[in-house]
Amino acid sequence: MSRDKAVCVYLGDALKRYGFGNGHPFGSDRMEAFWREACDRGLDAAVGLHSPVSASRSDITRFHHDAYVDKLIALSTRGEGFLDDGDTPAFEGVYEAAAFVVGTTLDACQQLMEGHCRRAFIPIAGLHHAQRGAAAGFCALNDCGVAIEMLESDYGLSRIAYVDIDAHHGDGVYYAFESDPLVIIADVHEDGRFLYPGSGTAREQGRGAAAGTKLNIPMPPDADDAQFMSAWQRVEAFVDAARPEFILFQCGADSLAGDPLTHLRFSSAAHGHAAKRLCALADAHAEGRLLAMGGGGYNRRNLALAWTAVLEQLVACTETSP
Ligand SMILES: [Zn+2]
Repeated sequence: MSRDKAVCVYLGDALKRYGFGNGHPFGSDRMEAFWREACDRGLDAAVGLHSPVSASRSDITRFHHDAYVDKLIALSTRGEGFLDDGDTPAFEGVYEAAAFVVGTTLDACQQLMEGHCRRAFIPIAGLHHAQRGAAAGFCALNDCGVAIEMLESDYGLSRIAYVDIDAHHGDGVYYAFESDPLVIIADVHEDGRFLYPGSGTAREQGRGAAAGTKLNIPMPPDADDAQFMSAWQRVEAFVDAARPEFILFQCGADSLAGDPLTHLRFSSAAHGHAAKRLCALADAHAEGRLLAMGGGGYNRRNLALAWTAVLEQLVACTETSP
């Protein structure tokens, strides 16, 4: 695998395995749908390819409760039933598959922190609904949450930005860090009155010492690119003012028109614009460190377009940056 490029992309069967069968929207064909489009545009020649890495239990429990990990391993061994109330089926090996998503996100953070690459993209990552003690919304483990814990404890970062444009509110990240002033969250999503998980009102801005470090922007169903661009200006100003040392970007493709589960109507131009502007913010404040994670997206054509729009900008903005 080529590892000598400033933009690294993680691909491999171990990531693909994090998917649910029998026609589930989060199927295991999503990674390849993205990569075919990326190769058609010649992006494969512009990035360094990296293999997935598994996380250890001790890494996972930086964020998740021990008792929950025990429960997940038991369900994963049995391979039947549900991890939550019925959205997220248990399959044999779901723990190992989710541990690869977590480990890959951690590896990307380490590559960025140690200067081996300037941007990273992981198509199957950004499992933003999992809570410290529970699975939710197709998410068995929360790779974003584990990564934030690692960036705080291993690297001592004091300003970490998490930006989320998936159609669903990133509740698993928001509530885990609601009282943590080191974590700056900006989340654009469909209004919770119309879509799972129902949270993320504009009044949710962080608690206690963290009050004012979170920005939630609920969008009306049918919101289009013009409405996204207007919301994005607020996201950009908010993140810029926070001067983050690292930027995590959950670029879920389910906010594009035609997703089977949601009602937003963005185009892939929204994702491209957000990626371009986050590269500029990462260059200004974070020594370029930007990790993009694919998140949701259940229309295969849409996720291919949205994720390649992001990757194109990571490549373009990295070639021209210092
Ligand atoms: Zn989503």
